[in-house]
Amino acid sequence: MKAEDDIYIGDGGLEYCSNCHTPRQHAIPNSIMGADFKVHIMCECQRSRYEAEQVERKEREFQALVAGNRSICFHESRMREWTFENDDGKNPMMDKAKAFVANWDEIKHKRAGLILFGGVGSGKTYMAAAIANALLDKGLRVLMKDFAEISNISIFDSEEYVKSLSDYDLLILDDLGAERKSEFAMQNVFNVVNRRWESGKPLIVTTNLSLIEMKQLRARDDIQYQRIYDRIFDMCVPLCIDGVSKRLPSAENKCEYMESIFEKGGAL
Ligand SMILES: [Zn+2]
Repeated sequence: MKAEDDIYIGDGGLEYCSNCHTPRQHAIPNSIMGADFKVHIMCECQRSRYEAEQVERKEREFQALVAGNRSICFHESRMREWTFENDDGKNPMMDKAKAFVANWDEIKHKRAGLILFGGVGSGKTYMAAAIANALLDKGLRVLMKDFAEISNISIFDSEEYVKSLSDYDLLILDDLGAERKSEFAMQNVFNVVNRRWESGKPLIVTTNLSLIEMKQLRARDDIQYQRIYDRIFDMCVPLCIDGVSKRLPSAENKCEYMESIFEKGGAL
């Protein structure tokens, strides 16, 4: 192959690339002066190199965006490694998490989220982080926070912080039940959950609480608890290690929908 800057004079007195034999010049007729104007153009090999560079540049920019989004998403850096690929295969619900990601576009429009519940060590947080990592890989913005943290937002930052959470395509709130229980803390939790509910974007909640405990908290004679749990149950379908539970009447329509998504599965 000849060097790309090698040229020769070919048809019409134009410069041609010695490598691909396509013109490096284009002639524009000049009726006043007589002689054609010659303007430089890219030959085929220059053009294909330019296009390959553009594809590489876009890929680099995309990967930088994904890396930036991932560093914002997790409060613990080890969670960046909690992926479907690194899963030990012990959680039988993982296929459902993959179905959630594979059908994301549809799920987003249905405003359907999940409550992942089960005992300590059942892998709920790993499962939520694997969903987050897979969606981050697609270029989506995901934020994972825990309830203890959001219940502690300073009164000065509260409004701005709560507002910023609606920017994310998916919000994951880890460890429902671990939040502080003061009136101020519960107000913070309600503000975050309510903002998500108003935004119409999906929410995933993880918790060690059982369904019975969640229902008891919702039934407490405390308007703050009722409002928080009403919103969560309205947005999220409960999923435990034994499968989707249909024992929460308010999410029943979404339960059936989510069952159909799990049935459908799909490739990531
Ligand atoms: Zn060429």
